[in-house]
Amino acid sequence: MAYKVVDHPLVKHKLALLRSKDTGTKDFRGLIKELSSILAYEASWKFETEPVKIETPIAATEGLKLSGKKVGVVAILRAGLGMVDGVLEHFPNAKVGHFGMKRDEETLSPKAYYSSYLDNLDVRNLLVVDPMLATGGTAIAALDLLKEKGAQNLYLLNVIASEQGVKNLTEKHPDVEGLACAVDPVLDNKGYIAPGLGDAGDRLFGTE
Ligand code: URA
Repeated sequence: MAYKVVDHPLVKHKLALLRSKDTGTKDFRGLIKELSSILAYEASWKFETEPVKIETPIAATEGLKLSGKKVGVVAILRAGLGMVDGVLEHFPNAKVGHFGMKRDEETLSPKAYYSSYLDNLDVRNLLVVDPMLATGGTAIAALDLLKEKGAQNLYLLNVIASEQGVKNLTEKHPDVEGLACAVDPVLDNKGYIAPGLGDAGDRLFGTE
């Protein structure tokens, strides 16, 4: 299964703060940013590097730089917006696309109502960000579309996923590398992950 949980004391600590209903908007935003930065770092383990000659103030030497395939970010609206700055800490030159989905009233399937950048993909490592992977329907649809547009080397960064969401995602997109800070057992009948953290968008934007 290409879905990994980042198992680190710092992640667990920040996640406990994030989950608490007593954590307010400002701290919630900060924690989402910090965890997103850690997820992006973890995702980049497999990025390719190439040698580069450098001169330190003392001597000539060789280092490594990230090679060829640059990084792009696609934020799934609206909660994915909260993850972008954390990812950009490591990849400040990344292009950022946006992807909005809503349920089609007739078919009840997720349908894209907004997308940017997706028509102009060059060959990149693409980090798709959405804090919550509930059923996985939105992420799966976003990844379907990105693949149609020719995207390769896709990563999905979630803060919390449900077991069901991970199952759905890995069935549909076994080649996509997924990462989360935790996978929770329950997806309730309103589509909330439990124990989860509530509505990530509302908590990020103070719209509860
Ligand atoms: N989206 C959220 O914001 N929270 C959940 O628990 C599930 C989906």
